[in-house]
Amino acid sequence: MGFLVGKRVLIAGIASNRSIAFGIAQAMRREGAELALTYQNDRLRGRVEKIAKQLDSSIVVPCDVSTDEAIEACFDELGKHWDGLDSIVHSIAFAPKEQLEGSIVDNTTREGSIIAHDISSYSFLAMARYGRQLMQGRNGSLLTLSYLGAVAAVPNYNVMGMAKASLEAAVRLMAYDLGPEGTRVNAISAGPIRTLAAAGIGDFRKMLDHVEANAPLRRNVTIEEVGNMAAFLCSDLASGITGEITYVDAGYNIVGMSGYGNDEA
Ligand code: NAP
Repeated sequence: MGFLVGKRVLIAGIASNRSIAFGIAQAMRREGAELALTYQNDRLRGRVEKIAKQLDSSIVVPCDVSTDEAIEACFDELGKHWDGLDSIVHSIAFAPKEQLEGSIVDNTTREGSIIAHDISSYSFLAMARYGRQLMQGRNGSLLTLSYLGAVAAVPNYNVMGMAKASLEAAVRLMAYDLGPEGTRVNAISAGPIRTLAAAGIGDFRKMLDHVEANAPLRRNVTIEEVGNMAAFLCSDLASGITGEITYVDAGYNIVGMSGYGNDEA
């Protein structure tokens, strides 16, 4: 029997079958969870509905996280299907493409910074607020996706690094706030994976090559590997874990002297 049998999980952020959220949904379904999926707008609705079918899910609700009204409506709609919710997976980030290249000092605009923080960080907290009622009394958990750029300078990641730092702080603050009611809050910091969102980051190919050459495991990670950690963190097996940022990155984050030993000289 799977370790998520009896759990109801809302997953936000599936854009394609390459999305990290798709890897998470697959792992959670394999372990027996019932899933509901969100889509941002009508452009993606059909695609997400098709993916939902593959995951035996019939609950597909709109949720553009750029407004509180849409997030509230998403949970109102979900409440018509389910009388309780065990987990929310937030696998969403966005910054205008021109913000994700070159000099952070020269290229970051006030508007770009507001958008990056709003969609990539604040929206996690807003989902927690509107989902809170449905999660009462279930010892549930919230999960979001971060990246090393939150804690280290990564070329081209720029304002998204600031947004991810804010997101990781939110994980700790939300864990502290929701802990007394039994709800856990965690993040996975994933290594680079080729997805639609990643395509917006300048020189992304170089990031993949660099990790492959320098991570202890000498390779990149897959959405399946991130999915397995997500399934674990949202299960009762992780009942003592909250406020954590867990790396699934082939060990890249622990390397202090990247490139050492790779030179021919
Ligand atoms: P992805 O497949 O492109 O997923 C990003 C998702 O965010 C898409 O479903 C996108 O929907 C959604 N989104 C953007 N703006 C939204 C909005 N206003 N309302 C609702 N949804 C919105 O890319 P991904 O790489 O799997 O990204 C998922 C998460 O993993 C992100 O937080 C990302 O920063 C994080 N992450 C990615 C990597 C990586 O290398 N890929 C590494 C570490 C962490 P639309 O397509 O409709 O815009």
